[in-house]
Formats: sequence, structure tokens, C-alpha cells
Amino acid sequence: MPLPLPASLSPSKVSSFTDCGLAFRFSTIDLLPEPPSLPAFRGTLVHAALERLFCLEPAQRTASVAARCLAEAMVELRPHSEMVALDLDADGEAGLLSEAQILLDNYFRLEDPTGITPIGIELKLEVEVDGVRLRGIIDRLELDDDGELVVTDYKSGRAPSEQYEQARLTGVAFYSLLCERIFGRRPAKVQLLYLADPLAIISVPTDRSTRGVERRVGAVWSAVERACAQEDFRPKPGRLCEWCGFKAYCPAFGGDIALADAHRVELQARREAERADLAVTV
Ligand code: SF4
Repeated sequence: MPLPLPASLSPSKVSSFTDCGLAFRFSTIDLLPEPPSLPAFRGTLVHAALERLFCLEPAQRTASVAARCLAEAMVELRPHSEMVALDLDADGEAGLLSEAQILLDNYFRLEDPTGITPIGIELKLEVEVDGVRLRGIIDRLELDDDGELVVTDYKSGRAPSEQYEQARLTGVAFYSLLCERIFGRRPAKVQLLYLADPLAIISVPTDRSTRGVERRVGAVWSAVERACAQEDFRPKPGRLCEWCGFKAYCPAFGGDIALADAHRVELQARREAERADLAVTV
């Protein structure tokens, strides 16, 4: 039986499919839960602190206020299911906060937030391009001194090695394409702020990069359609397996793919039952 198509593609889904088709299937089609990840939650925390910082007036965006934003973000996110699943004790939470504080301190080494004019924070963008629904969240959209659009994406991990350069460039061009289609304007630049290094990587989108990402997204979507129709997503063992949370389902690691099928079917049945309940109530 063909597998259901995903509803949309995002920069992370495009690179996930390219990295390993089977991991893409587990996460995007079977919707298997992934084990909680401390680095991922640290990233969520720092993003939330920076979001709070940029909601303040420019002159208030200082390092000491950013530390307060981090503490407030921690209070807000403590009940978050991922934080609960991490099950940190007091020392663990203190360690998480101090690592997040280092990333925030590094942020101030990359730019001065008092001189930035944001026009959108954590902006959810969605558009259909050639029959494919594209989705992305832009951490910060701002206007530069010439009134041009600038996209900023915070990265809490380290900058990628050359091997993963293509994924980074696809992400940059993807954001540019979303802006162009939604606002009718191509951003003057897209900057990726790698807070762990710290390092700012700045790209200037061009006609060529935009057309390139359109072709790439189209090719990935066609490959996903084919793989769903033939129920054929292949494992691609490599360095990323070290961090993959799906080994119990992956045949390359002796896992059982039938467990993923069972999870998807059960989830689908539960959702249909919920929808039916809702229809009766209305
Ligand atoms: S363990 Fe490796 S090969 Fe298997 S699904 Fe995960 S990334 Fe792919």
C-alpha cells in the first residue's frame, strides 16, 4: 500500500531526505517520536530568549537583559514536554542554563542587537511552489539601512563542515525563495549566526541560487512521491546514524520497520476517531 505523502517540505525536511531517506520517512511520514535531546532543547531555549530580547525596545537589548530573558524563557519552557522528558535534576538544569548563557554571550560577539530593526520574529511562512507546499520559520526578518530585507537564522550547533555545505546553502536559498514568493522581494542577504563557534555566515541570494533551490526542492519532492508510491525509503548508513533516534526501526541496525508501520496506522486510526468525535459534538 502506498505511504501517505507529507503535507509540505521545509529546509530541515529537504536535508533530512538527502541525508537518509529512511530517517525522513520515520520522522515525517510515520511520525515516530524521537528521544528528547539536550542540544535541541538548549537551542529552543536560546531561540526563546532571543525572541524575548527582540520584542524589547532597541536600547533595552543589552547582555544583562538577555540573561534575564533566558531566565524567563526557562520558566516558560519548564513544563514543555521535551524538558519534562529530559528529566533533569537541579544540577542538570543549572548546566543547561549555563551552556545556553554561553551561546547568548557569543551572540553579542556577532552583532549589536540595539541597531537592528526587526519586522518579524519567529515568522511562519508557507507558500505553494509548482504544486509543492513549502514551509519555513524565519527566526528574524529585518530591514537594513537601505530598507532591504535581511533574513537571520540562529544556529545553536557548530557551523557545518564542507561535507554539509550543500545543506546549509539549500537552507539559505529556501528562506530567500519563501520571501520572494510571499513578499514579492528577494532578501538582500541571509545570515546564519552559529552561536557555538561563534561565526556569522552571510549569503547574498541570486537568481541562480533561487532557481537552483526551486529545482532541488522539485527533485526532492518527486523522489519523495516515488518513494511513497513504491513504499521504498532506503537507509543511508553514515556518520549521522550516531545521533539517529530510529535505530530500533532501522534494518541497517537490526531494527524492525514493521514497528514504524504499526505506529503510523495506529496514529492515523486515533486521529480519525478524534475527528469523528469532534464531528458528532459539533
Ligand atoms: S540509523 Fe542511520 S541508516 Fe538508519 S534510519 Fe537512522 S540515519 Fe538512516
